[in-house]
Amino acid sequence: MTARLFRHQLWTVGADTLPDAEPVGYAAECSVCRARSGECSTPEHADAWILAHVGGHPDHLTYRALTAQPRRTWRRSTG
Ligand SMILES: [Zn+2]
Repeated sequence: MTARLFRHQLWTVGADTLPDAEPVGYAAECSVCRARSGECSTPEHADAWILAHVGGHPDHLTYRALTAQPRRTWRRSTG
């Protein structure tokens, strides 16, 4: 016989500011053809991808700036 214990736990989520947090990541996506840059370490690198993309696709004029913010979860103490 297998026994399982279930209980409710409170969790929360927030910005991961610990030293081992993943770095913030940036990317850009073409709104016309959905082409996407690779992950960039700075927003300027994502903008450089946009300029290269519009150079090959002069009618693709709108883009999305994507930012990946590290998040972390932890259990809240219940008292
Ligand atoms: Zn495009």
